[in-house]
Amino acid sequence: RAKQEGRNTYRLYRPEMDIQARNHLSLETDLRNTVESGQGLEMVYQPLLSSQDGSLVSAEALLRWHHPTQGVISPANFIPLAERSGLIVPLGNHIIDLVFNQLQAWIAQGLDPVPIAINLSARQFWQEDLTEQIVTKLKAHDLPPHLVSFELTESTLLNKKAQGIEVLERLRDIGCHIAIDDFGTGYSSLSYLQDLPVNTLKIDRSFVKTLGGDKRGSSAIVAAVAGLGRELGLKVVAEGVETEQQWQLLGDHQVDLIQGFLHGKPVSADFFTQRWLSKRENTPSAALGCPPQP
Ligand code: C2E
Ligand code: MG
Ligand code: MG
Ligand code: MG
Repeated sequence: RAKQEGRNTYRLYRPEMDIQARNHLSLETDLRNTVESGQGLEMVYQPLLSSQDGSLVSAEALLRWHHPTQGVISPANFIPLAERSGLIVPLGNHIIDLVFNQLQAWIAQGLDPVPIAINLSARQFWQEDLTEQIVTKLKAHDLPPHLVSFELTESTLLNKKAQGIEVLERLRDIGCHIAIDDFGTGYSSLSYLQDLPVNTLKIDRSFVKTLGGDKRGSSAIVAAVAGLGRELGLKVVAEGVETEQQWQLLGDHQVDLIQGFLHGKPVSADFFTQRWLSKRENTPSAALGCPPQP
């Protein structure tokens, strides 16, 4: 429409803007209340499986917000808001508590939980006392650190590589694992990677999505990242695996782990326990037999 009105038309005011701004404000208020009360926040868990035999290797914890009136809101819609408003810091602490409580509960139930990955947003990562907090919480929950890993995106370390490496080294020294999330979508150079004390690369879903399709580049990218990971001694995960064909191609490229709706959607802790953890001994066949997902 702006085009029709000509190039020099300024549109300073649109009623939609007002509505958007108001929605944002009230969403921020709602989120603040939610973070303060801790009510309505739930972690769901998505399995990461061996691409070779389908056995359960790890899981990613993903946040769900049960909004009092709007139903479940996707983290893609409120994590950026939490990040901008600073709410991500108390929210992030709450997320760590929820996951650590869950791990502790699984151990108390006599289960043998897999390592759980927690997403860290930039502001959380750069908290002065992040590593101290993690150490304190691990002790309080009596958890072995290898059960915890953290996912961060390339942009988190942007322009602050040296300081970032220090934080990562502290996390590594604690005994936690680190994954680079959404790998391939950021701006980091490849040489950058060799200095980072990380364990895992997660190939972004956008490359997996077009795998086997007309966009031939994605296959080359997946192959390159898998090769890079192998050379650097890193585990490579493909996220967003939705089809048998993608799974097959990822296996051909020797990607180590797969995560996606094909084998497992993110599910509640209870369902994850039943469907995945309590069956760990016989997961290989069970995982690939793939009963319907909720
Ligand atoms: P992410 O860390 O890259 O998480 C993977 C996202 O891909 C999740 O979306 C997951 O549900 C989705 N996914 C997994 N497999 C498939 C698939 O086969 N097909 C499709 N279409 N999607 C798939 P989700 O849970 O909506 O989270 C979106 C993003 O929000 C996450 O991306 C992460 O950046 C952020 N996020 C989620 N939970 C947290 C959290 O606890 N803390 C922080 N800081 N960020 C979080
Ligand atoms: Mg992630
Ligand atoms: Mg990801
Ligand atoms: Mg992603």
